[in-house]
Amino acid sequence: MNTRSIRFRLVIWYAGLLMAVFVLLGILMYGGLKLYLEQSLSRAQISRAHQIAGTLLANIGKTGEAYVVNEINAWFAPETNDRFIRITTEGSSVLYASSSPRDMSFDASHVPLYREPKKEGSWRRQKLPDNKELLIASTPYQTTGGKRYLVEVGASLEPIHDVLHRLIVLLVVGLAVMMLVATSGGSFLVQRALAPVDRISRSAEQISLHNLKDRLPIAKTGDELERLSISLNHMIARLEDAFQHNRRFIADASHELRTPLTIMRGELESIVEGAYFASEVQVTAASILEEVERLTRIVEGLFAISRLDAGEAQKEMVRFDLAKLATSTAEQMCLLAEDKDISISCNAPADVMVQGDRPRLKQVIVNLLDNAIKYTPAGGKIKMSILACDDEAILEVEDNGIGIPTEAHPRIFERFFRVDQARSREMGGAGLGLSIVKSICTAHGGHVGFQSTEGKGSRFKVELPLSRANNNKQESTDGN
Ligand code: ADP
Repeated sequence: MNTRSIRFRLVIWYAGLLMAVFVLLGILMYGGLKLYLEQSLSRAQISRAHQIAGTLLANIGKTGEAYVVNEINAWFAPETNDRFIRITTEGSSVLYASSSPRDMSFDASHVPLYREPKKEGSWRRQKLPDNKELLIASTPYQTTGGKRYLVEVGASLEPIHDVLHRLIVLLVVGLAVMMLVATSGGSFLVQRALAPVDRISRSAEQISLHNLKDRLPIAKTGDELERLSISLNHMIARLEDAFQHNRRFIADASHELRTPLTIMRGELESIVEGAYFASEVQVTAASILEEVERLTRIVEGLFAISRLDAGEAQKEMVRFDLAKLATSTAEQMCLLAEDKDISISCNAPADVMVQGDRPRLKQVIVNLLDNAIKYTPAGGKIKMSILACDDEAILEVEDNGIGIPTEAHPRIFERFFRVDQARSREMGGAGLGLSIVKSICTAHGGHVGFQSTEGKGSRFKVELPLSRANNNKQESTDGN
């Protein structure tokens, strides 16, 4: 469980707050009930003490003490009614003291004598040695003859403790049930409320430079999430505009540069090949021609990348045999390799059908073979293999050339990146070949990777989705 997720934190907050409110309510309820029960009990005891004093003790001079004792036993029957009644005179001699009740809920003989009669109708808690507690109301009374008595009437607090104990059990069980319902219900509600966030983030993961036309799903909930998805879609639209603008600029700039470069090349070639100029001029013109040719390759590369980024490869998709294309391309490039005394072998045992832009996929093979030839010393070997594996067409180009240093691996597909600037420049490279390979593979839903060890060689691996036979347009010619 992710404890940092919004879902977890919301549920914890919600359950914690609910628990705090419930506990507070429980404390208030417990305190209120305890006060109410104790006050009711004390009021009943006080009124009984007044009754005894007002009716029985008022006439004690005439009726005699024995009569009072009999009357208390007859009217109040403390043992039967689980009550405690005691009347003491001023000198602390006991006129009447009830015995322990029949249910033995307390031991009356353990109630100590009370020597500080306060004002009328006061009450106290009396703890007994056996841990039982009595609530005893006491009221002082003075007869007309001036004799003072203290009337004490009490009852056990046990029944109140019982009720309060049951209330605590009920509250604890209620709290546990409520927490269970709150956490599971809260978790369900939060999950429902946050479900659009999952959908939005899953869609956002899918959006890249190549499908900036896609938009996030809009949760029609009218809440903040709907506003968020609309704002994100506006942001993606603005990004798409900015990228389109950028791509158009590169495409337009490289397109505009192609014509003057072609004219310059033509003019320079005629100077180099013509017989009308001094040899110094021809040498300079040849050097400028080399640079113009390099510039032309860069412009062509940028033009190709900008069109691929704009998704143009998608328009030219046909179904064809990549193995056949790889074999014929390798044969064409053999001459270039032979010039450097490098051998190229091609292993393509079976047809490998793919759906793609044929000229561009040929460009992938050419760029990889060209690099292998460029960066392999004379006498080296280049092996190319193409085969179908599961749902993928796999094309590998392996050489035993100079290899790529480990620190350059992460940047090898970046535009204009070259491991050794001077050396690559000498060989006519501008650092765009592998970027073009990557753009073409991505545009075909494929992937390019490599393994390389400096001084030992490199192996580039292209993976493309295999074409299913049925639903595709099949190319009829085998033209290269
Ligand atoms: P370039 O046009 O300069 O060759 P690439 O994009 O094709 O540019 O390659 C980028 C860099 O990767 C090259 O400058 C080169 O240093 C390195 N590289 C590419 N392929 C190989 C290879 N087969 N062997 C060694 N180095 C390579």
